[in-house]
Amino acid sequence: MNDQAAPATLRADVVVLGAGAAGVCAAISAAREGKHTVLIEAGPMPGGELLTGMAVDGAVNAHGEWVVGGVARELFDECRRLDGYIGALNDWRLIHYVCYDPEVMKLAVSGLLAKHGVTLLLHSFVFGADAHDGHVSAVHILNKAGMTRVEAPVFVDASGDGDLAVLAGARYQSGEKGQFQPVSIMFRMAGVDTPRLLDFVRSAPQHFALGESEAIRGGRTDAQIAEALREQGQPTVFLKGDGPLLAKAIEQQRLYPTALIMIQPTSTHRGEVCLNSTRVANIDATRTLDLSATLGSLTQQVEVCLAFMQAEVPGFEDARLSGLAPRIGIRETRRIEGDASLTESDVLRARKRPDGIGRGCHHVDIHQDGAGQVRIPVDGGGSYDIPWGALLPAGVANVVIAGRCVSADRPAHGSVRVMGPCMAMGQAAGTAAAMLRDTPGADDFRTIDVKQLRQRLRANGAILEGPR
Ligand SMILES: Cc1cc2nc3c(=O)[nH]c(=O)nc-3n(C[C@H](O)[C@H](O)[C@H](O)COP(=O)(O)OP(=O)(O)OC[C@H]3O[C@@H](n4cnc5c(N)ncnc54)[C@H](O)[C@@H]3O)c2cc1C
Repeated sequence: MNDQAAPATLRADVVVLGAGAAGVCAAISAAREGKHTVLIEAGPMPGGELLTGMAVDGAVNAHGEWVVGGVARELFDECRRLDGYIGALNDWRLIHYVCYDPEVMKLAVSGLLAKHGVTLLLHSFVFGADAHDGHVSAVHILNKAGMTRVEAPVFVDASGDGDLAVLAGARYQSGEKGQFQPVSIMFRMAGVDTPRLLDFVRSAPQHFALGESEAIRGGRTDAQIAEALREQGQPTVFLKGDGPLLAKAIEQQRLYPTALIMIQPTSTHRGEVCLNSTRVANIDATRTLDLSATLGSLTQQVEVCLAFMQAEVPGFEDARLSGLAPRIGIRETRRIEGDASLTESDVLRARKRPDGIGRGCHHVDIHQDGAGQVRIPVDGGGSYDIPWGALLPAGVANVVIAGRCVSADRPAHGSVRVMGPCMAMGQAAGTAAAMLRDTPGADDFRTIDVKQLRQRLRANGAILEGPR
């Protein structure tokens, strides 16, 4: 570390805090508008959960219609160019999700950030801000070079936890009554025999979650759905915690209590899938000591799950661990109070609105302790608009939020937290930040004309109307 008395100062047009799904899209969107954009990330690599192997949910509705475009599609196009794109698949349960190779996504994210001239500050933690009367003039970061102030007229908070909004004085809710969705660690297995796995679904559909929304089921029997999965030919399979296979294994303590072992393809070349199953619930992940203490349990669960898959799930006999997420995945911390708030009714009724700046379509999806999980589909398998006001922290002028910390009630958060809508919000936030920077004398995101913002978003490929 240097021993300068005064911290160094950097200046930018737009500062984006957090390089997860939302922050990456925000930074690219601000930079492509010609703004000097600094993207600050505590970790070693931009991309967040985009890099862990999970599919992108909430970008394609239950009818297979895309509801998120723009930067998200550009990232998928890059994955396709680099031979790491599988595509939008029907899970024959509730949704379509977009699958790709997370190793290739690393190239896509870093490549697009570089192409648009985003200045990256990795290994840099924002621990403070110059904030007065709801107006932020600089953030304070700590890294190997010591402390630095990064000044800008406008900020995007895509930290997942709403760190900057809170530093600026925003109010928030955290989980609900001490309950938080579980933290989990994702992992991948390669060498899966997909036809054998899909034959197993066909022969024993009772173990799997199938056709949970009528928009997906369409009057089919479980046997017909299992057949459709087989025809799709990809391991898009959800072993349910209350199905006989998992329930018995949990009861006999061959498996930890869990709602699911969700299997999604990551690489057809490697015969590789991502598994979403591990969990430790009701941890406030903003308490770093508590979060860190879960790692041992989560990795122990990975070991248990690997052995279970190899021993008990046809198709996994010869599969091996091929990747472990580089961080503990966090589903839920703070929901910032915004000028507007997305509600459960907005989500479930697929509400469209004139001030929408992006869409979501994922079901209300609240993982709970043990084997519990709430899953409520969006009416008719459609999509809902995210209101612009949900990105504006109440009482804060020049900080816009995007991603997991968006203003929403808890059920709505259970839907909008997934990566498709986070990417759409990121694009909206970055675009709005560039627009505010362009407006002489303006220092409050509320001066942005939402019609003009929507026009700018459409021009850059965002989807604001069309799909159900
Ligand atoms: C186990 C699990 C499974 C999931 N499954 C799916 C799925 O299948 N499909 C799907 O679409 N979604 C899924 N989700 C949800 C989704 O991954 C996240 O909600 C989403 O990625 C959030 O994106 P974000 O950009 O808002 O936040 P994050 O990805 O949390 O990114 C925030 C970034 O900000 C950085 N940061 C935070 N604070 C600071 C600070 N003070 N200084 C500097 N940097 C900071 C962090 O390091 C992080 O990289 C899952 C989540 C989990 C945990």
